[in-house]
Amino acid sequence: MTERKTVKDYIRTIVDFPHEGIMFRDVTTLFSDPRGFRICVDQMLDPYAGQRIDKVVGLEARGFILGGAIAHQLGCGFVPIRKKGKLPGTTISQDYKLEYGEAIVEIHDDALQPGETVLLVDDLLATGGTAGAGIKLLKRLGAEIVGCAFIIDLPELGGRKLLEDLDMDVHVLCE
Ligand code: IMP
Repeated sequence: MTERKTVKDYIRTIVDFPHEGIMFRDVTTLFSDPRGFRICVDQMLDPYAGQRIDKVVGLEARGFILGGAIAHQLGCGFVPIRKKGKLPGTTISQDYKLEYGEAIVEIHDDALQPGETVLLVDDLLATGGTAGAGIKLLKRLGAEIVGCAFIIDLPELGGRKLLEDLDMDVHVLCE
């Protein structure tokens, strides 16, 4: 009997993208497979069964694809966190460090009400810089973060520890 594929089996690695020496974990092959996408969404939600989640928050850009599907499954709303300058309404911003330089993410200032419970999602956790900045934005709006769910963690880059040090519940499907 052939073994059923796991989420990890649907992810491909592109060598030297976007720069030489980078092994890019490409989840488009997971998203394009009906079974792969379904088990991914189901497994991301598993630990949160029975918990109140008012909104799913997704990090640009693959967090939007995941977050939309997860929010639909939960029957709740979706809120985007985007790179600077992309959201049309009034926003709050948070900067964070990149390997070279810094970046800024934003959220609409009226996207969440204080006390709303949120699940933060993205495809991949590396240094934790992006998710860490997202968490700061959510806290500034007074949201209660139920958890942070990712498909992939790159453990050697320390993102999980960074988020756990912020008292976050971190859920990943594979390393
Ligand atoms: P971090 O801020 O260092 O944790 O990087 C995570 C962010 O970079 C996420 O928004 C990911 O989508 C993106 N990212 C970094 N490396 C990869 C990769 O290999 N595949 C897909 N996304 C990646």
